Amino acid sequence: MRNDIERVLIDEAVIEKRLDAMAMEIARDFPEETLVVIILLKGALVFAADLLRRVPRVLEIECLNVASYHGGTESTGKVDFLDRHFPAVRGRQVLLLDDILDTGRTLHAVHERLRDEGAAAVRTGVLLAKDKTRAVDVTAEYVGFVVGDEFVVGYGLDYLGRYRNLPYVGVLKAAVIECPRTGQPDTAESVNL
Ligand code: 5GP
Ligand code: MG
Repeated sequence: MRNDIERVLIDEAVIEKRLDAMAMEIARDFPEETLVVIILLKGALVFAADLLRRVPRVLEIECLNVASYHGGTESTGKVDFLDRHFPAVRGRQVLLLDDILDTGRTLHAVHERLRDEGAAAVRTGVLLAKDKTRAVDVTAEYVGFVVGDEFVVGYGLDYLGRYRNLPYVGVLKAAVIECPRTGQPDTAESVNL
């Protein structure tokens, strides 16, 4: 797996230190009442598991399957909610977690939905935010790291379903993107985030 990585951008020790600080920011900002945490699957799984164990608050954890339509490494903007039931958030304090803020369309769509469902307050945390102009107006209160506008994998982020379990964030070799070993063509398809 390491052979497929061109560069490590953020190593494990640096991520862990940053998660300690983010957890303290979250604990400070939310009042003592119980929080509902919404984890966007699958990308935010690793980040959320490591972050939430550091947050000294009573938490209720919910997961949401959201899909956006991709051509492998590019988001095209359409966002679908895949679950039959949406978590009960009416009147609740919500912490929304995703892996990366890119165009912003995913977090924007989920944020709108949370508002429609009556959440009292929503704050958003992401492991990574790309340094670029967003397609929609959305910000995250908690950002682990700002990265350049390039495709990254690891620590929950995938390429064609792989590399989520890398303990660091890195950039794939161009050859892996041009010729992935799945044997499947890299065409537009619905993927689980
Ligand atoms: P959006 O464009 O809506 O902000 O981001 C949607 C989703 O695209 C993210 O949750 C993430 O799953 C995926 N994504 C965006 N940029 C990257 C990237 O650099 N690497 C990977 N692996 N996924 C990304
Ligand atoms: Mg993804």
